[in-house]
Amino acid sequence: MPDTTIIPQRIGRLEELAHNLWWSWHEPARQLFRAVDYSQWRLSGHNPVKQLLAVSKERLEDIADDPSFLAMYDSVMTAFDDDLQKPQTWFAANCAALDKGPVAYFSMEYAIHNSLPIYAGGLGVLAGDICKEASDLGMPMVAVGFMFPQGYFRQQLCNTPNQCQMELYHDLNFDEAPITRLLGPNGEKSITRVKLRNVIVGIGVWLVKAGRTQLYLLDTTIEENPEPYRQLSSRLYIADREIRLQQEILLGIGGVRVLRALGINPIVWHANEGHTAFMMLERAREEVLNGKSFAEAADLVQASTIFTTHTPVMAGHDIFTSGLMENYFNGYWQSLGIDREAFLRLGQYGNTPQDFNMTVLAFKMARQRSAVSKLHGKVTRKMWRPLWPEKPEDEVPIDYVTNGVHMPTWIATELSALFRKHLGDNWLERQDDPKLWDGLEKIPEEAIWNCHQRLKLKLLREILTRMRERWLSGGINGNQMMAMGALFDQQVLTITFARRFTEYKRPGLLFRDIERLKRILTNPTQPVQLVFAGKSHPADFASKALLEKVYNLANDSGFQGRIMFIEDYDVHVSHYLVHSSDVWLNTPRRLQEASGTSGMKAASNGVINLSVLDGWWNEGFNGTNGWAIGKGPDSFRADEEDSTDAAALYDLLEKEIVPLYYQREPDGVPTEWVRLMKRSISSVLPVFCARRMLKQYASRMYVPAAKK
Ligand SMILES: *Cc1c(COP(=O)(O)O)cnc(C)c1O
Repeated sequence: MPDTTIIPQRIGRLEELAHNLWWSWHEPARQLFRAVDYSQWRLSGHNPVKQLLAVSKERLEDIADDPSFLAMYDSVMTAFDDDLQKPQTWFAANCAALDKGPVAYFSMEYAIHNSLPIYAGGLGVLAGDICKEASDLGMPMVAVGFMFPQGYFRQQLCNTPNQCQMELYHDLNFDEAPITRLLGPNGEKSITRVKLRNVIVGIGVWLVKAGRTQLYLLDTTIEENPEPYRQLSSRLYIADREIRLQQEILLGIGGVRVLRALGINPIVWHANEGHTAFMMLERAREEVLNGKSFAEAADLVQASTIFTTHTPVMAGHDIFTSGLMENYFNGYWQSLGIDREAFLRLGQYGNTPQDFNMTVLAFKMARQRSAVSKLHGKVTRKMWRPLWPEKPEDEVPIDYVTNGVHMPTWIATELSALFRKHLGDNWLERQDDPKLWDGLEKIPEEAIWNCHQRLKLKLLREILTRMRERWLSGGINGNQMMAMGALFDQQVLTITFARRFTEYKRPGLLFRDIERLKRILTNPTQPVQLVFAGKSHPADFASKALLEKVYNLANDSGFQGRIMFIEDYDVHVSHYLVHSSDVWLNTPRRLQEASGTSGMKAASNGVINLSVLDGWWNEGFNGTNGWAIGKGPDSFRADEEDSTDAAALYDLLEKEIVPLYYQREPDGVPTEWVRLMKRSISSVLPVFCARRMLKQYASRMYVPAAKK
């Protein structure tokens, strides 16, 4: 723990507030930390734990005596206490059956705030948003994940051929992170243990608070563990299969043991993706230990388990060889009361007895199963139908709950101020009521446009700050400065492609006809600029080559600086981009995007989606709230997908998007465009918010499971 003694008692709870990420989605709390010391706030990367360690004693004494600061402090602390303690919540009114214990949520990654970089992408963002929304709705939730001190890599781009993406790993400074170590009853770091082959591995635990939600992060970096096992929890998504298996044993089996050691007994258990499925086995083992047969134990576990699958591509599911499984679970299956064959069958799919599939295990051990969008539900039922051979495809027992995003996290502060002014102070309480959003009509177009332009200026300043830092650290040339956005123009139509670089998302689709694209971007009166951001998985060489191609084009002065690549895509960069782009581009191969959530963030901020009809956009697009590229999933031909989609994309840009954007009133406001922004917000925000999503999980899955 940091040295707390220097914080004057009158403002002593700043420390507590800094250690609850509640502050990150409540603007008055962010303002409070800004007011503590603005330069330390910036230097800390908006991390108040780090900030408070750096603020001078004199400054703290000054603000502890400053009436305007104290008024702010008192009001934030009151709101904080009220929000964490208020008994009248949506949950209390609607989920009485669930009050016997918390919901346990298991996920490999969580994106709650950038000060805790333990996520790689969308799966983690979803998990983080669920933790926050559970708190807002008053739903008791305990979440379990991993403390990855090195997290996922940080990305830098350079001109070296075949080595465009550099991957940097930084060790997290635990003292500067919003985490608290939990100790065992005798002060020991290891709360519980799991056996990995013949080695007993101790598990340390860090607590992260996100409002009411408690997130427990497992950590093996403790002295009692032999050296290689200390590294186990160091990085996310290690390619090595054996280390992956060890991590998943730790998370699933270790995670249950950690909750038990802390005296927490959840009433329902939600597994986010197959990585977490061993949690179901461990709970079955507990029941067998209590005298149940495996069949009875499995039945109890199934009744209280919810499993959400996220991956519509077979290769994306976690599979371990049965040989590897045998090495780690010989001894464990006996404690489940079953033999080797019965154990391996739990993870078997089709005629591949050599594979143990984590998704199959999860489907078998959870009675409530869900996909993450309507279309993904259909794809998932088709994909896994062999597990229910007696059922027709549309009766395969896999439901869907379409993903959503946590609006207080993702709506720009400037825009939410407009919502507050025109829709009322309680707009967030009513965010999922579509009628509320009819009120957007009343907001003058000019007000929305000015707000959007201010946000675009913020993006520009962020780009310049990053560029200056890279320039000062040396080694970048003029073309690279251009590629980093030196020529970004706030007045120009800005189209953003910000997402993981991977083949199925087709980051190169726009470049199929280079000359046509060049004409669009460099049009002298109606130019367009493209912003790219995204990482390639370190071991995915095909997608690294795609990234290099895009980066080289951004370096090509023939595009006049209209293509830029922002390095190190993460939730911080994502905030700037979803707030201030004009158009949000998504070009997945059909049926391969399970949901996608960045487009929901963008649409809710008035950034117009231009996307293939896949994932959530197949539900979200209504014909008037953005654009669809090419045909829907039912009537396209895979063999011509790239060429027809690219042609459709260029046509839309040339004939509709660019002309509409530059159609201006005498005062410069593009009224029709702003009306489109309003339709985007009103049709997407109330539907694709995490609030709607979590209410559905609760009423359709958690409550029925708890009643059993
Ligand atoms: C929202 C978000 C994602 C997920 O969005 P997709 O549309 O699935 O790409 C991934 N990474 C970051 C940093 C995000 O903020």
